[in-house]
Amino acid sequence: MDLKYVQTTCPYCGTGCSFNLVVKDGKVVGTAPYHRSPVNEGKVCPKGTYAHEFINSPDRLTKPLIKKDGKFVEASWEEAIKLIADKFKSYKPDECAVLSSARVSNEENYAMMKFARGVLKTRHIDHCARLCHASTVAGLANIFGSGAMTNSIPDIAESKCVFVIGSNTFENHPLIGRQIMKAKSNGAKVVYVDPRKTPTGKQADLFLQFYSGTDVCLLNGMMQEIIKNGWENKEFIEKRCNGFDELKKEVMKDDYSLENVSSVTGVPVDDIKTAAEWFSKSGASTILYSMGITQHTTGVDNVKSVGNIQMLTGNLGRPGTGVNALRGQNNVQGACDMGALPVVFTGYQKVIDEAAHKKFADAWKFPDGIAEGKNGYEVTVMMDVLTDKPGELKCMYIMGENPMISDPDLTHVEHALKSLEFLVVQDIFMNETGVLADVVLPSCCYAEKDGTQTSTERRVQMWRKAQDPPGEAKLDWVIISEIAKAMGYGEQFAWKSAEEIFTEMAALTPSYAGMDYVRLNRPEALHWPCPTKEHPGTPILHIEKFGMPDGKGLMTAIPFKYQQERPDAEYPILLTTGRCIWHWHTGTMTRRSESLEREEPTGWIEMHPEDAKALGVKNNEMVKAISRRGEITIKARITDTIKKGVMFIPFHFVECAANMLTINALDPIAKIPESKACAIKVEKIQEA
Ligand code: SF4
Repeated sequence: MDLKYVQTTCPYCGTGCSFNLVVKDGKVVGTAPYHRSPVNEGKVCPKGTYAHEFINSPDRLTKPLIKKDGKFVEASWEEAIKLIADKFKSYKPDECAVLSSARVSNEENYAMMKFARGVLKTRHIDHCARLCHASTVAGLANIFGSGAMTNSIPDIAESKCVFVIGSNTFENHPLIGRQIMKAKSNGAKVVYVDPRKTPTGKQADLFLQFYSGTDVCLLNGMMQEIIKNGWENKEFIEKRCNGFDELKKEVMKDDYSLENVSSVTGVPVDDIKTAAEWFSKSGASTILYSMGITQHTTGVDNVKSVGNIQMLTGNLGRPGTGVNALRGQNNVQGACDMGALPVVFTGYQKVIDEAAHKKFADAWKFPDGIAEGKNGYEVTVMMDVLTDKPGELKCMYIMGENPMISDPDLTHVEHALKSLEFLVVQDIFMNETGVLADVVLPSCCYAEKDGTQTSTERRVQMWRKAQDPPGEAKLDWVIISEIAKAMGYGEQFAWKSAEEIFTEMAALTPSYAGMDYVRLNRPEALHWPCPTKEHPGTPILHIEKFGMPDGKGLMTAIPFKYQQERPDAEYPILLTTGRCIWHWHTGTMTRRSESLEREEPTGWIEMHPEDAKALGVKNNEMVKAISRRGEITIKARITDTIKKGVMFIPFHFVECAANMLTINALDPIAKIPESKACAIKVEKIQEA
């Protein structure tokens, strides 16, 4: 028997835990602790524990599939690649769109970005960061000059006040939750702000149960209380920030008096006062947030408000402080860093910047140039264009994404994808999006590839190949390269390894320029920015100055606005959506893990006992949840941990898909949808 351990990085959430894959006779059969990572120190959550179970699922795609007469038939790689290359060549650049992936490696995202801009020459490339932290990228870049988590994960344990807003950290980033508990055991206060008393809320010293979408109102109210009491950090504001007068003018308005804020948010006055005092006086307060902040039509405003309160209290650039956006998917940070966005090349170099455009065009040497230097469409906008402007977009190449579960208003998404002339889906499993494709290509999972991924704390870590892929499945970057070669661009895609791709990318990306596989091949890896081979990496951003042209952070007046669709007489319930500890994203991997699926085999709608009583609904009874966009049948879960008038559905489950109900209303800047707040009604299913 041949037995070996291969150290790798978890393919699920953005925490970036390390573990060993146990490989027996060439097949992955289990996971085992790897103790040397400073992120998780040998611990993992249930998803990490069972991260081997889907790898050798009999459902894995093993051969290319081509749809003929409405049915998929197996095809050779030669036939599939030729068909795709011929079709892609038949479209004009801006008739094509590409969705890259937060699940695949940095190298594969770079390859896809180069393919989109260099081979298809399209401006329209995006990925599902649009659905989770587009508001973070846009909001923080605007006020700090860098759109990423400011501090490291281990640094959270140094905090004296951990303020968690819109993040169920204990379920969705459990090993970051562990750092909160370390801080708490060192004497930190934990303040939790959410419409639900989740497992994270149960550990809090103070729980502010607010209405989803009232974040700006609450934060402005806290800032008014801080300024009224003189608790702001005057020295930090004076030396390091612009915009204090404008911010003060807004937050001191009567709209944000404690009484008014309490009435809008549903949080008692005394709790707002206590939160403001603890937060501003701790000496080191950190804010952790996730999609409760970002997935709103006011997502960018929410993010800027988080930045405002941290600048006001001087809680940036030091251990135990920071604006810490917890990113949902393993490599969503990396996919953004790699330029899988419609406005930037790698390292956030703008496509509209002439020098940046020339730099990439010169380096890549496509004889017929690259996509023009104009911003492209975001994924949410692509879907709208497909339905509203027929014929503008005609073909799409989707790698490792499943918009038919993840995107808002699934009826709209289905309509959009069905209006494409040609759709290619590249994935490890057939999924709800794949069934709509013309060609489906089988790719490799994390256990079958070398490469890097960048976790939420900007730490760039390695995946290491543990087994061969099933059947004829290929590496994502190899598939992309083969299509590029078939389209006449072999020279530009001549890589022989993931490491060669990384080297090319790093040479074009200042924040990754000091990294290479030798430097990354150690337990602590490296945080970007790491601009030179001698640079130690940067676990804490903004220590002396911000990334703005004058080095100062920008405080911004943010007036409170409600979400787009508020409960009314016809749809009286506020719906919010999210995740659970057992499943991840659209469930393609976790629902094929026997151990995880056994724990939570289907979705549910959480409702307060008084709401359930008013509807005449009992626990575990099936109900209809209906919005203006669609309806689902789903099991009721009655719990007093949710606020009365608010209900919650996890979005992982196709049979009761939360996104049948959600609204495709977008933040005007980030184009992120308002997945966290819409209006629904719930009906008891009458017996026949
Ligand atoms: Fe994986 Fe996230 Fe769990 Fe760590 S916390 S084991 S990265 S799912």
